[in-house]
Amino acid sequence: MTRLYPMARSLTGDGVRATLAILRETIPLTVHEIPSGTAVLDWTVPDEWNLRRATLTAPDGSVVADTDVHPLHVVGYSDPVDLRIERAALDAHLHSLPDRPDAIPYRTTYYHRAWGFCVNQRVRDSLGDGIYHARIDASLAPGALTYGELVVPGTTEQELLLSTHVCHPAMANDNASGIAVLAAVARALLAGAPLRHTVRCLFIPGSLGAIAWLGTHREVVARIAGGLVLTGLGDRGPLRYKRSQRGDTPIDRAAELVLAERGADLASQVLDFSPYGYDERQFCSPGFDLAVGRLTRGVHGTYPEYHTSLDDLSFVDAGQLADAVDAVLAFVDVVERDRTFTNLAPYGEPQLGRRGLYTAVGGTMNSQSVEMGLLWVLNQSNGARSLVDIARRSGLPFDPIASAAEALETAGLLGPDSVPDR
Ligand code: ZN
Repeated sequence: MTRLYPMARSLTGDGVRATLAILRETIPLTVHEIPSGTAVLDWTVPDEWNLRRATLTAPDGSVVADTDVHPLHVVGYSDPVDLRIERAALDAHLHSLPDRPDAIPYRTTYYHRAWGFCVNQRVRDSLGDGIYHARIDASLAPGALTYGELVVPGTTEQELLLSTHVCHPAMANDNASGIAVLAAVARALLAGAPLRHTVRCLFIPGSLGAIAWLGTHREVVARIAGGLVLTGLGDRGPLRYKRSQRGDTPIDRAAELVLAERGADLASQVLDFSPYGYDERQFCSPGFDLAVGRLTRGVHGTYPEYHTSLDDLSFVDAGQLADAVDAVLAFVDVVERDRTFTNLAPYGEPQLGRRGLYTAVGGTMNSQSVEMGLLWVLNQSNGARSLVDIARRSGLPFDPIASAAEALETAGLLGPDSVPDR
């Protein structure tokens, strides 16, 4: 996080490449480049933007804005300029936040040619008349859109998608936290036992990166059972899950169960889908309509540090990042073990004791016991209800429910499972 945070990322360019290079120190990411001019779905990959330095110098020679001091000082994708400009004319090229006078805002101009500087309101208010020197030493030229991809092979072709954006400069929660959390998740998955699902981790520029990936991976999209967009996971807020467009998929139910087991108040920490936000917008667009939700803490646009220089390392917390990694791994574990069984001995309760499954002494049954898990799984496994559904209804944790199902399957009491519909 400390190394990723200050980097000058953008939609394209060397900041993304340098970010992916840091990740490659710990996970074997494949880096892909899609050339400028490539048509992807309804979009075209733009020219690549690389900034060397942008400075705004006052008439007295003092430097008002300098991207070597903070990368947010320039509007992302600004046209290169080197000109003298009157204070009054300069104003149209300045961005600040009157309600947050100490914050430098984050601004971009990806699809409209312009240039500008971002400063805090106090600095802007202090700028006197005279001729200013605006210098943006940048290149905007054919290049590529860069993204990173890591596939953790599973025993089936069914895929889980975990995605984060890698295009925001010098902000900790949005967006270094998502990058760091996904990298830690990927490293843990690579070190663990092979999974049923193939897990695909994407480190992609927001919006256009997702669009480009979707447009170039149609055959993979068909195999995606669902997944999560990860972003904004380091602030002090609780974990929140934003549902996929379909809203009631096994992926949504698994994510909600994980939050519930971690003590979440689902009424406030589960959010319904809306076609705004991060790359869930693209994954849940109607042509794809994937079962992809989003895991976040503070909701974008609702905390004052959002998209400003106040979103720095002091705004994020290592414990919160670790907790988010745990939650994502728990989600993957639930999706992995969530199956739908049929009770093969549904007429009365089968004799569990005879099969070595029932050890409770009569009268000692407690509501959280392993035996209770066996009874719930047997009663509810009708070929339609999944183990996540059974955990939700029983109030038992998922782990004993899944363990009970595995024992019952071994004993021949549960029939061929069907993988839940996506
Ligand atoms: Zn953002």
